[in-house]
Amino acid sequence: MKADLHLHTTASDGRLSPQEIVRKASQLGLDVISITDHDSVEGIPPALEAAKSFPQLLVIPGVEINTDMPGGEVHILGYFIDYHDPELNHSLKELRNSRYERGRKMIAKLADIGIEIDWERVLELATGGTIGRPHIAQAIVERGYISSLQEAFAKYIGRNGPAYIERKKLTPLDAVELILNAGGLPFLAHPADIEYLEAFVPQLKKAGMAGLEVYCAKYSPSKIGRLQVLAKKYDLIASGGSDYHGLDNTIGANIGSVDLPPNLVGQFISLAERRGMVIP
Ligand code: AMP
Ligand code: ZN
Ligand code: FE
Ligand code: FE
Repeated sequence: MKADLHLHTTASDGRLSPQEIVRKASQLGLDVISITDHDSVEGIPPALEAAKSFPQLLVIPGVEINTDMPGGEVHILGYFIDYHDPELNHSLKELRNSRYERGRKMIAKLADIGIEIDWERVLELATGGTIGRPHIAQAIVERGYISSLQEAFAKYIGRNGPAYIERKKLTPLDAVELILNAGGLPFLAHPADIEYLEAFVPQLKKAGMAGLEVYCAKYSPSKIGRLQVLAKKYDLIASGGSDYHGLDNTIGANIGSVDLPPNLVGQFISLAERRGMVIP
């Protein structure tokens, strides 16, 4: 059994459409995937529709909500969410609207420091989905100012960069609550670099968090070991995935490239069963 529980599509800052992701996952022989776009569930209906042609593949509805804490960004994943939930959709829409305004302001700040990119081009790259800094980074690379997306974050648009602008964000606890209210299971995404992680995890657990991403593409065996211990200590499901974006090799990894323990895949399948999803 093979799975990838962290994938981005054109509904946010991924290269492939939901249909293409489903086709690709099936070609790669994956059994379970989850579509986890930033602040959007719009990729889920087309992914589920496409999955009808690949009956051996289970597609779990997911979302990744980018939240803020004083020490930095924290991403909360939600699995098995009711993607029709009105409150969830309303909140995600607000988050996406604030990204639009923030993006425009960042273009103006970039112009102030001599980096001229077109807002129209950023919108084109975002293809109507959640606008993210990776789209802005792509537009900067296209203009030849720099050669990788990571460089855009390092030089201009990272949290401490000269063209960074804040936007409306939920707190991690708000995101956990929003996901729970939409019938989902909240997971803490790529947690290794979160400040005071050991103190933070029990707070999230108390709020209803179900799991922790342990198996991430760029994590060393010792990082994975430390996170396994933490997950076990707080009785959290140890999950993982590639965080595939397909933009360039500095963000995320390839679909299906992170090996997940068979018991995790089994756990997700039985969770899906309990939620009445059709299991291939
Ligand atoms: P945004 O959602 O607009 O805040 O952009 C953040 C997204 O950019 C993250 O979810 C990552 O996919 C990507 N990213 C890539 N490199 C970095 C970096 N150095 N710092 C922050 N985000 C990054
Ligand atoms: Zn992203
Ligand atoms: Fe993330
Ligand atoms: Fe992600």
